[in-house]
Amino acid sequence: MPSYTFTGGLVIDNPYPVKEVGLVQAPLPGKVVLPLQQRIGGEAVPHVKVGDKVLTGQVIASTEDIFCVPIHASISGTVVAIDDQYIPHKSGLKSTCITIESDGKDQWIANEGCGSDFLHCDQSTMIEYIRTSGIVGLGGAGYPAHAKVGKVQDCHTLIINGTECEPGIMCDDALMQYHPREVIRGVEILLHICGAPRAIVAVEDDKQVAFHSLLMYNKNERISIQQIPTKYTSGTEKLLIKALLDIEVPSGGYAADVGVLCQNVATTKAIFDAVVDSKPLVSRIVTITGSGVEKPNNYEVRLGASFDHIISKSQPNNNSHTMRMGGMMMGIDVEDINAPICKITNCIFVNNKSKPIPVQECIRCGACSDVCPVDLLPQQLYWYSKNEDIDKAMDYNLIDCIECRCCDYVCPSQIPLAEYFAFSKALHRKQVIEKEHIDLSRERFEYREYRLERNKKEKAEMMAAKKEELKKKMANDKAQKDKIAAAMARVNNKKANNKDA
Ligand code: SF4
Ligand code: SF4
Repeated sequence: MPSYTFTGGLVIDNPYPVKEVGLVQAPLPGKVVLPLQQRIGGEAVPHVKVGDKVLTGQVIASTEDIFCVPIHASISGTVVAIDDQYIPHKSGLKSTCITIESDGKDQWIANEGCGSDFLHCDQSTMIEYIRTSGIVGLGGAGYPAHAKVGKVQDCHTLIINGTECEPGIMCDDALMQYHPREVIRGVEILLHICGAPRAIVAVEDDKQVAFHSLLMYNKNERISIQQIPTKYTSGTEKLLIKALLDIEVPSGGYAADVGVLCQNVATTKAIFDAVVDSKPLVSRIVTITGSGVEKPNNYEVRLGASFDHIISKSQPNNNSHTMRMGGMMMGIDVEDINAPICKITNCIFVNNKSKPIPVQECIRCGACSDVCPVDLLPQQLYWYSKNEDIDKAMDYNLIDCIECRCCDYVCPSQIPLAEYFAFSKALHRKQVIEKEHIDLSRERFEYREYRLERNKKEKAEMMAAKKEELKKKMANDKAQKDKIAAAMARVNNKKANNKDA
C-alpha cells in the first residue's frame, strides 16, 4: 500500500512566498547566447557561421552522440559570434557558444510534428520528434527525454513529476496552473509511447490551484492526479516511485529497471509542444526569487537570454547579491549576471550577500541521520570522508547519497556535509578509474610476460625440432654414403677378381 510520502526529508516553507503564483512572458531578448555543450554528452558542432541569418526554431548545432539533442535558435536574427563565453556551470569554466543578435521579428522556421490527432503517429516517429525538438529533462537533470522514453521496457506506470525540486521554486506550479490542458495532452502522448496502462501526475498538497486545474482538464480514466505531502526531496525520482507505488528502485538502478517511466511536468508540456504543435524547445519557465528581489515571479523566457534579462523584471534591491541557479539546496552559485539561461535553469535565487557562518566541530547530535531521505548515516560518512577513507564510506553506502543537503540544513555545527560527500564520490570515481588503469597495465604486463615465455618456448621447440631434423638428415646422409661406399667396394672387389682371373 503506497504511503504517498517517505521517511526523512524536510518540510520547509517557501522562504519568499507570493500571494498568487504568476507567469509573465519575458520580452524577446536583444541577443541570446547558446552553449554547444549541454548537460550530458559531447559538444555539438555548429551548422552556422558568423554572419548567417537564422530563424527561430532552426537547428544551429548538433552531434551524432545519441545522448545529445540538437540546439535550436531561440530567436530569429544574425549569428554574431561563435566563441568561448561564461556559462552557468559549477566548474566556472567558459564554453563555446553561438551568439545570435535579434532582428526583432521572431520569425519561425516550419517544423514537422504529428498534429492534434497524434494517435495516428507511431511511437518511434514521436520519439524522433522529441529528439529533434531538443527536449531534455527540464526538472534540472537535463537528461535527453527521447533516451529516457525509449529506454523503459514493459512499462506498467507512467509517473509525471509535478513536485517542485526545492522550496521556493514555483516554475512547475505556474506551468500546471497556466498550461493544464497541454500537460494532460502531453501525458496522453507519453502513455501512447510507453504503453503503460496508467499514469499518475504527482502534485504537492500546497499547490491547490495547480491540482484543481489539472483535475478540471483531465478526462482520461487512465490518468490520475495524486496529491502528496509537500516535503523536500519528494521530487527525487526513486523517492517518488517509493511514495506512489511502494516499489524500491535498487541501489545504483533506475526507474526503468522497475518498469516505471518518470517525466517532469515541464518536460511533458515540452513534449506536447513538439509532437502536437511542431515547436522545438526554445524557451522555458524560470522562477526568480530570493532576499535580493522585491517581486519574486515566474517568467517564460527564451533560452540563451541573460539572467539579468529577467532578474531586472523582479525589482532587485540595491544591495550586493549572490546568485544561485537551481535552488537554495542543490543549486550552483553563478557569478555573472550575464550568464545565459539554459534548459536546466528552473530557478535563480538572488540573495543579499551575507557573512558566512563559521563551521564548528561535530557534536554527535544525530540530527543529520533523522532527516536523510535515503537512510544514510551522514555523521559516519562525514568522518570517513574527512579522513579520505573512501572504502569505509562506500561500506556505508556513500554512493546512494543524492546530495540533497538535508543534513547540512539541520546540522547545528554548520558542517557542509554534502560537499564532503560530493568530494568523496568524485575521489571514489577517480580511484575506480585509476584501479581500472592499474588493472589494465597489470593485464598488459602479464600478457607480455606470457607472450615472451611462449615465444621462448616456441623457439626452443623449433630449435629442438630443427636439431632433430638435422640429426635425421645426417644419419640419412651417412647411410647413403655407407651404401655408396659399400657399392663402390663391391665394384672394386669385382674388378680385382676379374683381373686375377
Ligand atoms: S548534525 Fe552535524 S553536529 Fe549533528 S551529528 Fe550530524 S554532523 Fe554532527
Ligand atoms: S546529502 Fe546525502 S547524506 Fe545528506 S541527507 Fe542528503 S542523501 Fe542523506
